[in-house]
Amino acid sequence: MSDLFHWKVAVEAPLFEPLTYSSSSELNLTRGQTVTVPLGKGQRLTRGVVLGPSDPYENSKLVKSIDEEFPLLPEKYLQWLEWLASYYIYPIGMITQLAFPPLKKALKERKSRRAPVIPILEKSQRPDLTPEQKKVFEDISIQPGFNVHLAFGVTGSGKTEVYLRLLEKVLEKGQTGMVLVPEISLTPQLIQRFVERFGDRIAALHSQLTTRERTVQWWDIVEGRKSILIGARSALFCPLPNLGIIIVDEEHEPSYKQDEKLKYHGRDSAIMLAKTVGCPIVLGSATPSLESWNNTKEGRYQLHTLKNRVGDRHLPTVELVDLRASDDKRPTYLPHWMSLELFKKIQSTVEKNKQVALFLNRRGLSPLVICPTCGHTMQCPNCDINLTLHANSHLICHYCDYHENFKSICGECHDGEIKPLGLGTEQVELDLKKLFPYSKVARADRDEIQNRADLEDLIKNMETGEIDILVGTQMIAKGLDFPNLHLVGLVLADVGFNLPDFRSTERSFQLITQMSGRSGRHIDKVDGAGLVIVQAYNTEHLSIEFAKNHDFEGFAEKELEHRKTFKYPPFGKLISFRVQGMHLKLVQATAERLVARAQHLKSTYSLYQSLDILGPAPSAIPRLRNLFRYQILLKGPQAKSLNQLTRQVLGSQDWVEKGTRIVVDVDPISML
Ligand code: ADP
Ligand code: ZN
Repeated sequence: MSDLFHWKVAVEAPLFEPLTYSSSSELNLTRGQTVTVPLGKGQRLTRGVVLGPSDPYENSKLVKSIDEEFPLLPEKYLQWLEWLASYYIYPIGMITQLAFPPLKKALKERKSRRAPVIPILEKSQRPDLTPEQKKVFEDISIQPGFNVHLAFGVTGSGKTEVYLRLLEKVLEKGQTGMVLVPEISLTPQLIQRFVERFGDRIAALHSQLTTRERTVQWWDIVEGRKSILIGARSALFCPLPNLGIIIVDEEHEPSYKQDEKLKYHGRDSAIMLAKTVGCPIVLGSATPSLESWNNTKEGRYQLHTLKNRVGDRHLPTVELVDLRASDDKRPTYLPHWMSLELFKKIQSTVEKNKQVALFLNRRGLSPLVICPTCGHTMQCPNCDINLTLHANSHLICHYCDYHENFKSICGECHDGEIKPLGLGTEQVELDLKKLFPYSKVARADRDEIQNRADLEDLIKNMETGEIDILVGTQMIAKGLDFPNLHLVGLVLADVGFNLPDFRSTERSFQLITQMSGRSGRHIDKVDGAGLVIVQAYNTEHLSIEFAKNHDFEGFAEKELEHRKTFKYPPFGKLISFRVQGMHLKLVQATAERLVARAQHLKSTYSLYQSLDILGPAPSAIPRLRNLFRYQILLKGPQAKSLNQLTRQVLGSQDWVEKGTRIVVDVDPISML
């Protein structure tokens, strides 16, 4: 025993602590090394990462070998991975696995018929910075080391150009840079812009790549052939050597939060990575998250403002249409969702050969079908969710993908003729084709655009004028830039208002602003501005009132007051628990026990006295994929005490009813 060394090794297993392995002195191990170790009864060989020496442990197994393929995981990255495990209460070994490429390196490059991940393009002229851009660029670049900067600039104010300049500077110093964008805005248009500036120094990582492509990109970065990595949130896990800056574009985007497995927030994790590495981080947005905004108010982040669009272009004019009032005025040839105002504006825009985009955040023909005779609504058999009618032929559950054929006679009473209620993008498209038979109408939602090639086609068709009127979901609200788009219509802005989520007003404001920002991006001042028409029933809604005047600051002030009253983020921290299982009784039992344990701890320790324990209550979607769901929410002033209480409540989980499971979400952003 005496000539053995002991090591803590993070292995891919759902264990909160690393396992202890031993090695003989010949096997020279260090922290950050990748090793192969046996795991479980079957002694299956698996990959592990050495975290450091451990106290001797009697029955420890031997480390099989060092995995020579991977260089030492840099110490800073390892520290960051450990932070993730601790903050998000997630097994360290499941996290370290994310820091590896999907395939083995020893792959022979095979010829692929796919387009190259990084296109080959001529470098383009770089514009002189505007005075506003110059100030932001200089203010950020003169400060070395870790700082969080918030670049708050309206759409088209030239934030991306500032990022490009900051990256140039970092490359000059021989360092590398990471650019995170939401998956949805990681468009070919965006990558192209970076390649036009930096040529073959760009690598990209996103979900549209094959595992082979991702592996190649990963090694290009790790071995220093590429120096700027653009990617969706998971790109954070690629250990860039010598990181000099991180940029998080559209920092307010909820999609930065991963909603399964490790429920980390890409922006927050990026800030922690920058802090650990000691480099600056720039968050960019036209509608910053209230968390980031409040951090600038309280002096933790530096605020840099870009007030104007580049090239002296106007922000679009926003007109409101109150659907309550417009119902009486609408001629009978118009569908129920189209006001006369919107119709006239579409008409005049297409007459001038300019493009129109209509936005509705709901797919399908109609989100609800009902039997007018017996009142039966068609529900998913697996979820407590109404089925959505698509193409007048099938009903789909948007949560579990359940499909069934649509029958027009009610299956319950065998009498009534099923009626679709409400509106989806398919219906809007159909109606538009009837109203504008000479215009080319296209639709962009998850049913139509399923991969990168589809998106590239759409962009091409918008650019070449193959499309006159585009209908889409939030897919078209983000990142796209169409020079000829002059009119944007929000078909029904109310769709997002009443979601059971304290952030729904903030989301609506962001979406209205973003969608508006697509309009008239290339109209010069002398020619006026783009136009946005917002149709809504509740035109007094906070989000509309302020989005109309492009007044983010006014909106933030009002909404922050509200958050403060209810101690919601950024004034309080949240951890949510979801208990789920096949049997309702067992789910309820676990949920009640969880709350009882939390209450007991709260009444025992003064540290926890200021925490609120809310629930248990059925989740907003009480049943999903055949699992019943209950929700418990912890609210409190500090992340630390919430984290600690959560660990104590969970304990070894031997009190959890068999067949039920607890999913912990730190800083949850969706309460469904
Ligand atoms: P944002 O990222 O804030 O939406 P962009 O950086 O995309 O803004 O800039 C908007 C448009 O203005 C783009 O077409 C970009 O090429 C152009 N642009 C940006 N900065 C300049 C500049 N200094 N001079 C001329 N054009 C610029
Ligand atoms: Zn379902």
